[in-house]
Amino acid sequence: MDTNQAQLFARLQELRKQIQYHNYRYYVLNEPVISDYEYDQLYAELVKIEREHPEWITPDSPTQRVGGVVAEKFEKVQHPVPILSLSNAFSKEEVLEWFERIAKLDERVRNADFIVEPKIDGLTVVLHYHEGVFVQGATRGDGSVGEDVTANLRTIKALPLRIPISPLSRVKAPRSLVVRGEVFITIKDFEELNRRLEERGEKTYLNPRNTASGSLRQLDPRVTAMRPLTLLTYDIVQTDDDPPKTQSELLERLYDLGFPVVESRYCANLDEVFEAYEEYLRRRDELGYEADGIVIKINDLSLFEQLGVVGKDPRGAIAFKYPAREVSTRLLDIGVNVGRTGVLTPYAILSPVEIGGVIVKQATLHNFDFIAEKDIRIGDVVMVKRAGDVIPYVIGPIVDLRDGDEQVFVPPTRCPVCDQPVEHIEGEVAWYCVNAACPAQVVRNLEHFVSRSAMDIVGVGVNLVEQFVQAGLVNDAADLYRLRKEDLLRLEGFAEKKAENVLQAIANSKNRPLARLIVGLGIRGVGEVVANELARQFKSMDSLMSATVEQLQSIEGIGPNTAQAIVDWFRQPRNQELLEKLRAVGVWPVEGGGPSEKAKSIFAGMTFVVTGTLQRFTREQVKEFIERHGGKVTDSVSKRTNFVIVGENPGSKLAKAQALGVPILDEAKFLEMAEGEDALINSSH
Ligand SMILES: [Zn+2]
Repeated sequence: MDTNQAQLFARLQELRKQIQYHNYRYYVLNEPVISDYEYDQLYAELVKIEREHPEWITPDSPTQRVGGVVAEKFEKVQHPVPILSLSNAFSKEEVLEWFERIAKLDERVRNADFIVEPKIDGLTVVLHYHEGVFVQGATRGDGSVGEDVTANLRTIKALPLRIPISPLSRVKAPRSLVVRGEVFITIKDFEELNRRLEERGEKTYLNPRNTASGSLRQLDPRVTAMRPLTLLTYDIVQTDDDPPKTQSELLERLYDLGFPVVESRYCANLDEVFEAYEEYLRRRDELGYEADGIVIKINDLSLFEQLGVVGKDPRGAIAFKYPAREVSTRLLDIGVNVGRTGVLTPYAILSPVEIGGVIVKQATLHNFDFIAEKDIRIGDVVMVKRAGDVIPYVIGPIVDLRDGDEQVFVPPTRCPVCDQPVEHIEGEVAWYCVNAACPAQVVRNLEHFVSRSAMDIVGVGVNLVEQFVQAGLVNDAADLYRLRKEDLLRLEGFAEKKAENVLQAIANSKNRPLARLIVGLGIRGVGEVVANELARQFKSMDSLMSATVEQLQSIEGIGPNTAQAIVDWFRQPRNQELLEKLRAVGVWPVEGGGPSEKAKSIFAGMTFVVTGTLQRFTREQVKEFIERHGGKVTDSVSKRTNFVIVGENPGSKLAKAQALGVPILDEAKFLEMAEGEDALINSSH
């Protein structure tokens, strides 16, 4: 290797490190420190080097997440030790019985402490790392033999391809490590996935768990890669390092290696376990994913081991299930909603019923095919499920309870809102109202336009939009910008202050980047990702308006249907009129003109604490350096501190950081990060 090659190779390694680090910040910590745009730049640079030097590609490169080929079937994997399941308890009494049972086997149980974790309703996976590199992943299967889903697991961005994630880690990867975790889809991602499918007229998924399981068991990893799977880990199945002594130590070790780790609570005794249960039950909807109970584990892992296994369940742990969120109720009627794109969606009107503390009166029925497939009839007693924050959904009818008065549902042939005939699009399951002036669609379109992913007009939600439309003040997005204070003051609920705030919020949105406006137009198939790409390629609305199908299709990520949908959208006279109106009111952004282009730096949003004497910096200098790069330096360590920089003769802040689990950097590591910063700035210009 000559010097140039060596430099290029060093750059490649640096890029991999940075991308891995930013993945971690984004997918594991949910605290990204660079923009998507900057991330894409880094990624593109790596791809370019690897294209020139395919011999440098290694399986742990971030570009290799979707590298697998389509498999014919999954190979079997023998697990190194049995992957156990858990016995269940459905009441406090059953938990107490379990406790008494194991206390009789071993008196030490009476003084045991516990770790409590939410029981994630996902799919168990077993992950193998060799020399710090992810080499194999399998499903649980029957507990002794699972299926090899390595290629699919690689596509999950939260899964570290290489451990530890530098430069945060205080620990080294063991030579061999087997970790257990759960693959799942968050409720937000699940609903977003369904929303997009609905917009495209495709079948929606029934629930997050089945979607996750189906996605992980795809033979084509490219399909898996398109599903929003994520991961949390909670167990070390095998390690050739010293095994952790307690479950809390185990979780901490996973965290230090850079794994996404399930949240947990330490409980000194069983009373605290019950308190934790109550708290988790209360917060059930806040977790962001489906959990059907908590897992109670004896913290002392040697005691846990010695208690042994009964059947396939370890004695030292038990699942304490939450009350069911499936109930039966009568289906009174079936209503039909009209969406933004005109798609008709049926929903169940139910005899009101309480599910997990919430009164449910409506539930989704997905689409007309679902009603037919499940043979759901008006008047049926149906099973309804509400899980997490997912919109309640009908599982199916209880056929045995029919009395013959039930009525088969016939999908409408006219739009329930504007009474125009509905149309079916070849190859899609959905029916559409194609009347662009349909009031339902006008409201939905405006709702979309003001939403956070589009123009983000704060304080203008669906209720206001409906009010504007009903009052005849607004018929399309451009009308929002023509609203006057005296118009608003005539509306119910509007006083001086509120009117001013709303007008200010609308005016502020004029400066949104081009991509936001493109999202706001609500073109079928054009979400945030596609809109960003369009904005980057076309730079202005004027050039996007005249794009051809061929031009659009040549852009990565845009298929023939979306390309056609975009061209069709711009051809519609009604939409052309909207664009002219938007231009006239000054909503006409150009890519690269806005303040959003301001480069962020690697320390943006991070809080540092410095303790001890540094070699290269005085206190003032290090403070100034961090602030110049977007970070902040504070005096005391708290949970909010991102890093503690430790020099010579550190004070009590070090101990506090260790107690709180705040990552610690020595001066060398900090400088490594800082150099990453310089490289980053150079790469994005
Ligand atoms: Zn209609």
